[in-house]
Amino acid sequence: MLPEIEQYFRLEKLPHMWCPGCGNGIILHCLAKAVGKLSINQERTVMVSGIGCAARASSYLDFDTLHTTHGRALAFATGVKFAKPELNVFVLTGDGDCTAIGGNHFIHAARRNINLTTIVFNNNIYGMTGGQYSPMTPNACRATTSPYGNLERPFNMAELAIGAGATFVGRATSFHTKILTDLIIEGYKNSGFSLIEVVTHCPTSFGRQNKMGSPADMLKWQRDHGITVMKYNKLTDEERADKFIVGILHSSKAPEYTAEYQKLVEKFQGR
Ligand code: SF4
Ligand code: MG
Repeated sequence: MLPEIEQYFRLEKLPHMWCPGCGNGIILHCLAKAVGKLSINQERTVMVSGIGCAARASSYLDFDTLHTTHGRALAFATGVKFAKPELNVFVLTGDGDCTAIGGNHFIHAARRNINLTTIVFNNNIYGMTGGQYSPMTPNACRATTSPYGNLERPFNMAELAIGAGATFVGRATSFHTKILTDLIIEGYKNSGFSLIEVVTHCPTSFGRQNKMGSPADMLKWQRDHGITVMKYNKLTDEERADKFIVGILHSSKAPEYTAEYQKLVEKFQGR
């Protein structure tokens, strides 16, 4: 581990429980780098997670952490931010945790525009709980609950967040580490709900069931399919079919929930 990020980890909790070649450690590395670049006060920062492989991340980070219940990371984080708006609150969650069990919390956190930086580890499957398909599993892909191919269509979680009112939305992959670190920095700076979707690899479950090769092969897949908006705009519809955009997807301004609540309190205290 690089010395400049060591201070953000509970070294006594290592080695971690993730499989060899899992993308989760890369995301954590980028998060720690972003926190370091932002010089965020470690004592006033909370990391909240739900349940699943991604959610184990909070156990390894040396901040105030909440490892909560399945799908409820955003609900707990909303409570923390609402009670103590001065704290920096990050949410670490997986695609199943955030968009299936926690789907309702997800759209309403975005709608409220509450100041949370949410990082979704999207590995297209429920990794820890048995390799079931999630709302992010692509159509026709295999999972333990779709052995003949997934019949459902996946969400576009970024568009869902934008439609629900999120004021900052970006997407990166475990391969695009510079973009990911920068997105976490920008997401943190946004005063409102920020979503950073990270397309990452689960070689043990999604990769194995869909014959995607080694972890290195899965990283190469991310490299070849995640492209910047400039490159995307130059492609034909046919060429775009299996590509997705990485970088900032949406940025806007809207009243932030806890700030609006504080105004209300002051208004009535003034009376
Ligand atoms: Fe990573 Fe998948 Fe293993 Fe979970 S099951 S630790 S997501 S490789
Ligand atoms: Mg998952």
